Amino acid sequence: MRQRKRKTEHKIGFRFKRMQKVILVFLALVCVLCVAQQNVIYKKQERILELLGDEDFTAPLEEQEPECLLIYEDSAQGQKGYAVMSAVLDQMKVPWASCLAENAETIRLDDYEKIVVAVNQIQLIENKLVDIFDWTENGGQLMLLYPPDNGGLFQSMYHLLGIADVGQNWEYVEKIRFADGFMLGASEKEYGITDPYESSMQVSLERGCKVYAESAGNGGAPLIWSREAGTGTVVVCNLGFFEKEYRGIYCAAYSLLDDAEVWPVINGSTFYIDDFPSPVPAGNSERIFADYHMDIGDFYTQVWWQDVYNLGKKYGIRYTGLVIEEYSDQVEAPFERNKDTRRYEYFGNMLLDMGGELGFHGYNHMPLCLENFDFQGLFDSYRHWPTYEDMRAGLQELNDFCTEIFPEEKFQVYVPPSNVLSEEGRQMLLDDFPQIRAIASVYIPGDAAYEQEFEVSEDGMIETPRVISGYILEDYAQLLAMAELNFHFVNSHFQHPDDVLDVERGGDLGWEEMFRRLSDYTEWLYTAAPSIRNLTGIEMAAAVQQYDRLEVKRTLTDSSLDLELGGFGTTAWLMLRINEGTPGTVTGGQLTRLTESLYLLQADEAHVVIELLK
Ligand SMILES: [Zn+2]
Repeated sequence: MRQRKRKTEHKIGFRFKRMQKVILVFLALVCVLCVAQQNVIYKKQERILELLGDEDFTAPLEEQEPECLLIYEDSAQGQKGYAVMSAVLDQMKVPWASCLAENAETIRLDDYEKIVVAVNQIQLIENKLVDIFDWTENGGQLMLLYPPDNGGLFQSMYHLLGIADVGQNWEYVEKIRFADGFMLGASEKEYGITDPYESSMQVSLERGCKVYAESAGNGGAPLIWSREAGTGTVVVCNLGFFEKEYRGIYCAAYSLLDDAEVWPVINGSTFYIDDFPSPVPAGNSERIFADYHMDIGDFYTQVWWQDVYNLGKKYGIRYTGLVIEEYSDQVEAPFERNKDTRRYEYFGNMLLDMGGELGFHGYNHMPLCLENFDFQGLFDSYRHWPTYEDMRAGLQELNDFCTEIFPEEKFQVYVPPSNVLSEEGRQMLLDDFPQIRAIASVYIPGDAAYEQEFEVSEDGMIETPRVISGYILEDYAQLLAMAELNFHFVNSHFQHPDDVLDVERGGDLGWEEMFRRLSDYTEWLYTAAPSIRNLTGIEMAAAVQQYDRLEVKRTLTDSSLDLELGGFGTTAWLMLRINEGTPGTVTGGQLTRLTESLYLLQADEAHVVIELLK
């Protein structure tokens, strides 16, 4: 009896606990509903970084003599090499010149500290080869941008380059492994190559070479190495990939040439949420209903946004949401006001309250394109705006709609729907919507996309491309994100609430797996770069404005690196690699150590001196 009684008591306790849980969940739901109904109140947010005017920057530097010469060949590969290396040198703010391999004879080597060779057929520079050997041995810094054809003349370079032998076949590189500390975020991780081919020489190296990257497949071929040659330095890139996503790797390789190298960076991490807030699709998704027993609207509020919001809170991310007023294909004025603002208020206020920002995406999802624009058959459901006035009226309606709901906000960032933006559409933003100061389209070229660099255009529009997107985040995105973290010290990610409904964007992985991948990414990012600044879209634009304007004059001696900065705003950020020695006292700025050899320099003044201890 006693035993039974205890069991009954236990049962009652258990039931009561279950009831308690049900009541708590019910109360939580009531709270969510109340908040949704009543509005989350937000305060106008101060931006941590403001756009500057011309008068806020110091004068540009006087023109510098080129310190680097790029010798390239007029072939398909030579052109690709030229494209990638010219972007790297420009953005590292290195003064440089170029010369076609055919004209190599005219080069005065002593005019340069560094030479980058992008040549397949070494016979094109045959007459200069001995001079290049001597110049290197006497303190020159030579970089081979890609592996040349393995003929007799190239064999005469083996010793200079530290090559013991080259195999008969080429290495099919599927994965890269980087040496510890060489690139930020790349230690203890293998990076998959998206379109592998027989890209690299199968080489064995002489003693004394330092290997910084190697193929992680069976062969383990060295892909980037350096060696000292006399009093000079040689760096060889045995990589054979030239796409935009590899720029950060070439920047890192270039920074191995000197005892110390420095380059301006953006120092910013921005997460955009596209189509947010926007009308929530009605009805059910089979997958979401199976996993969560909810319709799409409830899933957005109770699962997707909760997860994304909490992730933001965990890392201090302040999201930038891009508003869509409605999803019709209407392109003729007048445009009706969307009266259902409840969800805009709920999501928008929460996003603003966490320090986030709202920008424009569109009245609807029709890109800003007139009849003359060719969608290249890619977007069947898209319509052209019949007139400029209709196109303007559409965006004006979005402006009025957003201002009515969020009267204290400035809407300064524009993200083009499907990354498509015509010249006329861009001009309209400049002429008729002057509050828009930045366009955030894409960094990597794609279907009819408005492709960008991180820069201020001549007309003053600030280009702040998004680098990676979505929740799949496989090899390609991981390599690209790592390379950009090293090249620009930047993260720029964007996601859609409806990615989860789209199989091509990872929908059939299920939300739990999609969110796990995004969480893994943020964990990787903030572990690799805990000091990176979390910025909203317009703060990113302000960071790009200061980065773009910055010029650097480097004076490297045995005991110090002296930096004179032109176009200096309030603070400048630079990445510093020290190959020989360690940093001592810094005047005019401060250093944060990122890896064994990489440092982030915060320059507080336009003149910085870093003492080098050897
Ligand atoms: Zn969109």
